[in-house]
Amino acid sequence: MKLIILGSGTCVPSLKRNAPGYLIEVEDLKILVDCGSGTLLQLQKAGRSYRDIEVVFITHCHPYHISDLMPLIHALIATPEYKRKKPLRIVGSSLVGEYLDGCIMELLKRPDSFRIDFSRIEGKMEFHPLTLYSAKTLHSEDSFAFRFEYNGHSIVFTGDADYSEAIIELSTGADLLVADCSYPYELKRKGHLTPTECGIVASKAGVKHLILSHLYPTNYSDKEILEECKREFNGRISVAEDLMEISLI
Ligand SMILES: [Zn+2]
Ligand SMILES: [Zn+2]
Repeated sequence: MKLIILGSGTCVPSLKRNAPGYLIEVEDLKILVDCGSGTLLQLQKAGRSYRDIEVVFITHCHPYHISDLMPLIHALIATPEYKRKKPLRIVGSSLVGEYLDGCIMELLKRPDSFRIDFSRIEGKMEFHPLTLYSAKTLHSEDSFAFRFEYNGHSIVFTGDADYSEAIIELSTGADLLVADCSYPYELKRKGHLTPTECGIVASKAGVKHLILSHLYPTNYSDKEILEECKREFNGRISVAEDLMEISLI
C-alpha cells in the first residue's frame, strides 16, 4: 500500500503546497482522498493518470477539498480517443451527493460510456481490497475522518478537524496518521489542529508515523512546526511535502 501526497496545502494559493489531495495505491486499486484545486495536475506530476482513479473519497465540502472533482469527471468524459468503461465511485457526505447531482451533473450531463456512483459515507464500508472506517470530526457540518485498512496495515486521514476523542479512537494503532496541521499553536483557530494537538492525538492513539499536512503558509518554518509537535509525540513525524511518497508494504 502506497500513499502519495498530491497536495499538502490549503485554500491559500502556494507554489510550495497544492490544495488537499492524496492518492492511495493498493494492489490494482487507485483512490483519491479529497480532490482539491490542482489535484489533476499534481497527479500528472506524480506520473499517475486521472484515468486510473476508481474511487474518490471527499472528507467534506469546503470548495478547495472538492473543486477538482468536476474537472476530473470532465476529463474522463472529454479525452479524445478514450472511452472510460469502469464506473467512477464518489464517497462522501450527503452534501457531496447534492453537489454532484445539483451542480456537476447539471453542467456536464451524465456520461454515456461509464457510470458515476455516489455512496454516502457510513461507519464501515468495503472497497475491495480496502476497508474504510470513518468518524465525524469537529470542523463543519459534513466533515469526516477516514481510516483505510489493508491486510493489517492502516492509514488515517483526519480531514479537517479540531481535537476530539473520536479522532484519537479512529487513529488507534494506525501505521500512518495524516493530520490537519493548519496553524502553529500561537495562531490556533477553532476547527483545525495545531502541531501540539496533532502530537497529542498521535501519542494517545499510539500511531507509528505522523504526517503533518494541510499546512497554511505562515511565518513559521517546517522546522518550527516539527519542533512544536515533537514536544508531544516521540514517534516518527514528517512534515508533508507535495509529491512525497510513503510505502507501507
Ligand atoms: Zn474545511
Ligand atoms: Zn481544509
